[in-house]
Amino acid sequence: MKVLKFGGTSVGSTESILQVKKIVEVQTEPVIVVVSALGGITDNLINMAHEAASGNSSYEAAFESIVKRHDQMIRTIIPTGTSRKRTLYRKVHALLDELKNICQGLYLLKEMSTNMEDTVVSYGERLSSLIVSTLIEGAVLYDARLFMKTEQKGGKHMLAKTETEQLVKKTFKYSDSLKSEVCQSKKSVVVVPGFIATDVVTGHVTNLGRGGSDYTAAVLAAVLGADSLEIWTDVDGFMTADPKVISNAYAIDELSYVEAMELCNFGAKVVYPPTIYPAFHKNIPILIKNTFNADAPGTIIRDKLRDNSRTIKGISSITGTSLINVTGLGMVGIIGINQRIFSALAKNGISVFLVAQASSESSTSIGVRNEDARLAAAVLDNEFAKEIAMGEMNPMSIIDGLATVAIVGENMKGNPGLAGQLFGVLGRNGINVIAAAQGASETNISLVVRKDYLRKTLNVIHDSFFLSEYKVLNLFICGVGTVGSKLIEQIRSQYEELKEHSRLKLNVVGIATSRSAVFSRDGIDLDHYREVLAKAPASDNQRLHDEVVGMNIFNSVFVDCTASKDVARLYQSFLEHNISVIAANKIAASSDYTNYMRLKQTALTRGVKFRFETNVGAGLPIIGTIGDLLASGDRILRIEAVLSGTLNFIFNTIAADCPFSETVRLAKERGYSEPDPRIDLCGKDVIRKLVILAREAGYVVEQDDVEKHLFMPQAFFDGSLDDFWKNLPQLDADFEQRRQVLDAEKKRWRFVAKMETQPTADEGKDMEARCSVSLQAVDQRHPFYRLEGSNNIVLLTTERYREYPMLIQGYGAGAGVTAAGVFANIMSIANI
Ligand code: ADP
Ligand code: ASP
Ligand code: MG
Repeated sequence: MKVLKFGGTSVGSTESILQVKKIVEVQTEPVIVVVSALGGITDNLINMAHEAASGNSSYEAAFESIVKRHDQMIRTIIPTGTSRKRTLYRKVHALLDELKNICQGLYLLKEMSTNMEDTVVSYGERLSSLIVSTLIEGAVLYDARLFMKTEQKGGKHMLAKTETEQLVKKTFKYSDSLKSEVCQSKKSVVVVPGFIATDVVTGHVTNLGRGGSDYTAAVLAAVLGADSLEIWTDVDGFMTADPKVISNAYAIDELSYVEAMELCNFGAKVVYPPTIYPAFHKNIPILIKNTFNADAPGTIIRDKLRDNSRTIKGISSITGTSLINVTGLGMVGIIGINQRIFSALAKNGISVFLVAQASSESSTSIGVRNEDARLAAAVLDNEFAKEIAMGEMNPMSIIDGLATVAIVGENMKGNPGLAGQLFGVLGRNGINVIAAAQGASETNISLVVRKDYLRKTLNVIHDSFFLSEYKVLNLFICGVGTVGSKLIEQIRSQYEELKEHSRLKLNVVGIATSRSAVFSRDGIDLDHYREVLAKAPASDNQRLHDEVVGMNIFNSVFVDCTASKDVARLYQSFLEHNISVIAANKIAASSDYTNYMRLKQTALTRGVKFRFETNVGAGLPIIGTIGDLLASGDRILRIEAVLSGTLNFIFNTIAADCPFSETVRLAKERGYSEPDPRIDLCGKDVIRKLVILAREAGYVVEQDDVEKHLFMPQAFFDGSLDDFWKNLPQLDADFEQRRQVLDAEKKRWRFVAKMETQPTADEGKDMEARCSVSLQAVDQRHPFYRLEGSNNIVLLTTERYREYPMLIQGYGAGAGVTAAGVFANIMSIANI
């Protein structure tokens, strides 16, 4: 014999209730079917009762919609013209008439009692069970009020276990040898309304608490020795986290009773917490199944697990929690303080769900529900009035607006690195753990965090402990010019591949330009982002900053594909908010040294990344290589490089039939140069790059320290951009003359950036760097001679690479390779 429980959504619509019929009819053994009220009806009944009792005539409309909902259901699911339908209709309306009279009574008396509310609410399950028992042919309806008994305890209805057990056995004609006589026939179906009960003393209608139908089913299963208990609901099983909060939560195959209990107790609403114990006690497996996807395997909760390899099984959470802090140096070493705390709270009916005490005993934090917090603090202030007056203890303090998260798995036991890893990832994401508790059983680690960090906390934990099928990186992309749009294209085309093979989901949650911005937690559709951006409201950098920070999303990365000074100014705050920054923009890394260092330090202390590999050599791995050399103990002694793709292109293209001004124009058109090519021509772009390399090599260098040799007169840089383009051809003749000389000498022009080091006069620092940029004529033997097109080249002389310097060479400009470099930076963050 099995007990099957169908929840509100399972019986909530005509489609789903017909699905229930199907599921029940294919059973090959006797079943007891426990049903909830039609989804939403319990809430409707409670609201209606309160409206009526507060003299609000709107209760009538509420009543009518309840009638309509049930009528509609009967009309569609039971064949018309049958006597079955007529009988059902009559019975349902008899119940509804009773309900109407009760509500009228409430309306006239303007009075509400728990008794009345319990009576009204019981109609939900009474109606649904009547409908289901008629729908399933041959099913027999049993009235739960006759055998489910409660007693009053601490102002609540609690199951009266002994009486219920006796009555259930009697009703179902149970004997140890025969089990339930009522369920002897192979196809027998008994339908029972869940949730409702009666008081063992007064006989008044009561219930087992919201969500209590699960409990009815578990009690029947346990008392009648069912082979299994099946909870049919609207999700594929017990999930790793609440699927409404964690979009990639998935169904867990197996849970132990203990794990299920821990998760349910902390808010995994899928099973009502008291349900677990009766099943555990009688070792009855619980199967969680989806009515809407009956073929899915679901989750099995049982004693012995087949696969117990996972450390963390699931996470759950409750909001509305407060901490009461009991503090004072006078508490240290005093025996009995805890006993006094807990007795005082218990005497006042306050339930404590978390306790964290420092080993010094000078502070104890107690987690209670928000609604109990004030009373709890007052009770404890009173209990310890003497100690507080003497200064041995401080008055109680309350921290509210909190949420508690539970991380559950029996295998966490003896896994020493887990807590460290957990606090590590939370810290990296800027989540402050206000209190934490772990019992010696190590099945549950509970954390208290600020309520507005709950979603992020759950996501971080889910993501980091492989509860997720894939890791998520949430990206904000600023700038959709040549590099930004290429990057988006690359992300779009790699999306599925990365998800499938690298288990990485690159979720673009924000795209911004200097004029507008769009944001979406669930990810922006990259096929249509331009249309969405075009329709988006105007935006500026302040809004961009506030949205990115305000979204407070986990594993987030800000990617700057602009050349904007104002955007670079936002990095510091992003890093401080634990948002990694990837910059194709060179401004920040080449700004003054203290700013550069501050950004790097902030990233370090916050456990996030500030990466800017494409600042030098586009997609070439130059900065990363320098970092790796230093990390392995090498020292950079000299850098010699051609770092301007634009200038190299210009000097490679200049020819008798292609004058200087034309080469500049071509460089601009092909997207090699900066939007304003003067930045390249005056050497500023190369200086920025050289400064960044020197700094990454460990030297303190400012842009002004770089010796600069211009190859064209300063006057060309002073006017407007229009003037510049107009005047540029004036240089053509002179360049052509110089070019012919160079050609005759079989040399080529290269704009070379150089960093040389020498012992310093400064005490404390052993080496200092001298940097310069200049146009040089190199002959055929020089490694820079054959540097084609817009390529870049870097020669690194280090302690290890001294005689034969390391050489990195390749495309040094272009949207595609730069975007790919940014992409590589993104991947390097994903892999930490
Ligand atoms: P029913 O009406 O069938 O009793 P409930 O609404 O009580 O259904 O419980 C199912 C719901 O519980 C799911 O729709 C889901 O939103 C929520 N839920 C919260 N945490 C979890 C979890 N860990 N696993 C599955 N569902 C969960
Ligand atoms: N109908 C009740 C509720 O909504 C009981 C249940 O669904 O389990 O709380
Ligand atoms: Mg439920």
